[in-house]
Amino acid sequence: MLADREHKENVALTRLTIDSVDTTIVDLPLHRPHRFSAVTIDQQSYVLVRIRTREGIEGVGEAVVPGGPWWGGESIEGIKVVIDTYLAPLLLGQDATRVGRLRKAMDTLVARNPFAKASLEMALFDAWGKAVDLPIYELLGGLYHESIPVTWALGADEAKDVVEEIEGKLDAGQHSSFKLKMGAQDPARDVARVLDVAHVLAERTSLRVDLNCAWDELTATRWLPALEAGGVELVEQPVPGWNIEAMTRLAALLQIPVMADESVWSPHDALVLARAPAADIFALKITKSGGLAAVRRIASIAGAAGIGCHGGTTIESSIGTAASAQLYAALPEITAGCELFGPLLLAEDIVAEGVQYRDGHLQVPHRPGLGVTLDEGKVRHYMRR
Ligand code: MN
Repeated sequence: MLADREHKENVALTRLTIDSVDTTIVDLPLHRPHRFSAVTIDQQSYVLVRIRTREGIEGVGEAVVPGGPWWGGESIEGIKVVIDTYLAPLLLGQDATRVGRLRKAMDTLVARNPFAKASLEMALFDAWGKAVDLPIYELLGGLYHESIPVTWALGADEAKDVVEEIEGKLDAGQHSSFKLKMGAQDPARDVARVLDVAHVLAERTSLRVDLNCAWDELTATRWLPALEAGGVELVEQPVPGWNIEAMTRLAALLQIPVMADESVWSPHDALVLARAPAADIFALKITKSGGLAAVRRIASIAGAAGIGCHGGTTIESSIGTAASAQLYAALPEITAGCELFGPLLLAEDIVAEGVQYRDGHLQVPHRPGLGVTLDEGKVRHYMRR
């Protein structure tokens, strides 16, 4: 009995004293340019975060925004400054396993900046998982999903190119649903382009669209029913994030699900949307919500309100994708798959063994922490100088 109690006390006393927090910007090339409504990118940038502890454990995380500050206001360069100047000094000498406490302290010192905070929280979870030799999903409730189906997202390109890319994926047996970015051109032409794609492919696959806030309510009311009639199966964030009333009216207008992304950053947002109700599905992202724990709170609110959850992407590398996989593996509320295709869009990654995909499904890593290991040579090669 005594031996048992000592063992338990030792486990409870796992401590990791933070010795250093380092940040490095890396720029990774893409397989093809990716066209959002606002910008086109041919590389994706990351702030690689490393938290080293006195016990010799290194936790790794990444900050990433989708192709620049247009989406959420934070930029890679700004994130590095906020971490180096304010958040890293806060963590030095603290116990890395007290993730909730440290994350709360970040909010006390720095308002907003969820993308920056998410990278540090991710690294804390990685360090903790490595120290206790468990994948992060074991710290978050245990394994629920072994793998998660991945929707492939296409840029806002011409119908011919989009159809070609989708047919290539279908022929290769990869991915069973596809998301088209919209909003980069005049609505009438944009809708005609998507209807062309839907006409060719509706029988073979599931198509969804993401407007990234590009339309106002009148435009959305005019054109979304045409997309629905043409076979589009889901509409993501047609109007600006703040316009909850418009989202509510559009969700009532359409039979197909309306997904909220830019409208749902925080658990508070989730509660407002659920009460409205302004969405059928929430797009979850560790980045915009400031970490894994906040996303878990949002998922709980969604589940309690009967709203589905989808694992969204900010075009993470294998590091952020592994963090998402670890979290979503433990969430029964993930009912609408994910779009964590970042590593598949990257021509180069900075890990020795990336996350794995099989039959269009992201495989949950089972190694300790995030379950991925840095390739130091690649980090040196792609770091910004
Ligand atoms: Mn989106």
